[in-house]
Amino acid sequence: MKLRIVYDNEAKGGLESDWGFSCLIEAEKKILFDTGASGEILSHNMQWLGIRKEDIEIIALSHEHWDHIGGLDAVLHQNVAVYIPSSFSMGTKKRIEESAAEVLEVSGPADIVSGVHTTGELGIGIKEQSLVLETKGSEGVIVLTGCAHPGLETILEAAKVFGELYGVIGGFHGFDKLELLKELKMIVPCHCTVRKEEIMRMYQEKAVWCGAGEIIEI
Ligand SMILES: [Zn+2]
Ligand SMILES: [Zn+2]
Repeated sequence: MKLRIVYDNEAKGGLESDWGFSCLIEAEKKILFDTGASGEILSHNMQWLGIRKEDIEIIALSHEHWDHIGGLDAVLHQNVAVYIPSSFSMGTKKRIEESAAEVLEVSGPADIVSGVHTTGELGIGIKEQSLVLETKGSEGVIVLTGCAHPGLETILEAAKVFGELYGVIGGFHGFDKLELLKELKMIVPCHCTVRKEEIMRMYQEKAVWCGAGEIIEI
């Protein structure tokens, strides 16, 4: 499986950085996880990476914040299926229904395609789903988060139903029990991770820099 960070607070090459997150997962199908804040920047970065919106077969949205769904209109098309937490507002649901092939509401843990699962919506305040990806060599599962509002610890715990934890990629928000990451073999702190630099320093041997343009093979 190949992951490409399309949108992030940091970027490399000719890609633009901006507050937000989006990642393309190339599995059995091409899945775009979140869409960043701006459709313009998302389109620019996709073009730079050679990704056409028509190639995206599935969009999975972690939560309803603007820095994750703001770019949605730039990638919606008539053949795409969109996975959203069932708590999304009626307005957003309607907007997606009008331009997508299918809207799938997620509540509990579920499979999306072979090797790609969702934790289901978690959290009490801001509800959020995270994806759970199986590594090629079956070493375990890698959790892909948007902002981790329900708490990274809670998300990692929920992901364990799909296998042994191998790694985590995405926004960790205010997560501060850094020692809990010790068990993991791959740590990729992105987007809103408040303690990104500290995590990179603390786990030098297994932390991977995150920014738009980064490719991660799992
Ligand atoms: Zn958020
Ligand atoms: Zn965010």
